[in-house]
Amino acid sequence: MSNPGSILEVQDLCTYFPVTRGVLKKQIGEVRAVDGITFTMRRKETVALVGESGCGKSTAVRTIIRAVEPTRGKVLFETRQGDRVDITKMPKAGMREVRREIRMVFQDPFRSLNPRMTVLDNVGEPLRNYNIGTGSERRERVAELMVQVGLDANHLSRYPHAFSGGQRQRIGLARALAMQPRIILADEPTSALDVSVQAQILNLMQALQNQQEISYLFITHDLNVVRHFSDRSGVMYLGRIVEMAPTAKLFSMPKHPYTAALLAASPVPHPRLRGKRERISGDVPDPANRPKGCPFHPRCIFAKDLCREQEPELVQRPGDPEHTVACHFAEELELKNVKG
Ligand code: SF4
Repeated sequence: MSNPGSILEVQDLCTYFPVTRGVLKKQIGEVRAVDGITFTMRRKETVALVGESGCGKSTAVRTIIRAVEPTRGKVLFETRQGDRVDITKMPKAGMREVRREIRMVFQDPFRSLNPRMTVLDNVGEPLRNYNIGTGSERRERVAELMVQVGLDANHLSRYPHAFSGGQRQRIGLARALAMQPRIILADEPTSALDVSVQAQILNLMQALQNQQEISYLFITHDLNVVRHFSDRSGVMYLGRIVEMAPTAKLFSMPKHPYTAALLAASPVPHPRLRGKRERISGDVPDPANRPKGCPFHPRCIFAKDLCREQEPELVQRPGDPEHTVACHFAEELELKNVKG
């Protein structure tokens, strides 16, 4: 890896989908769902990708694991053996090995749990697929995983519908943990849960991270979850990362108007601190018809002529390599109480 300590390096990753018309399916354009994102993840680190729906964060994660094929770019992964592989170029057999070490947890656990299979079969399925252990060894392992995620090991013969939403998410986590992954890609894993259950799941994920040295790539639109859970965060807009920084810094000193507007629009959980929620004006533009220049300019209250002409690059802030931002005027703007 070019960055010491990193387990995953995403370099200029792009995922474009063709837009076609007519019976001949003539391509008339393309949707740039992910448009040149670059970031690294260190061992045992939690990185969040955050943004409004349609910003490309879920497609980015699906591209990393090759559930969607990338258009270009690299995803460098350090395997358990210490080899560095480019996931985008892996043959099918190689991807099978990579997927042992990179697992996914979904927003809706039913996407990964088969409702017609017992907990034993659901959680033990990856072990069976990879021919790991005998039947009784797998049963023992699944019982152990159930305890790890805070569930009763005597409930292996129950079906997913017999559990609450939070318990089902715990089962989804147990399934992901079965292969002892090094990275878990978590796509909005708590957004379908009540706030109190959300906190339990996040605490559990943090405890598992400490015990098992897991790195998380966490996808969410919920800034309160990001604030409490992630070490570093990237803000995505129209398929690009527009700002990335250690989470505490991103929240205390946002440098991109979109980040500042998202923070201003985010609900404050404490009733005494709660004020009027601000909204970001306008909608996310159609990704098949991106605005020229800075993609945020139609909604940005600071937009100038340069913004309408030239797209800003994601660059390091002066003297702060951990904080990158894509705004022509990042160092000049006063972003306190930005409403968007
Ligand atoms: Fe706003 Fe211009 Fe910065 Fe884009 S480059 S975020 S339009 S000030």
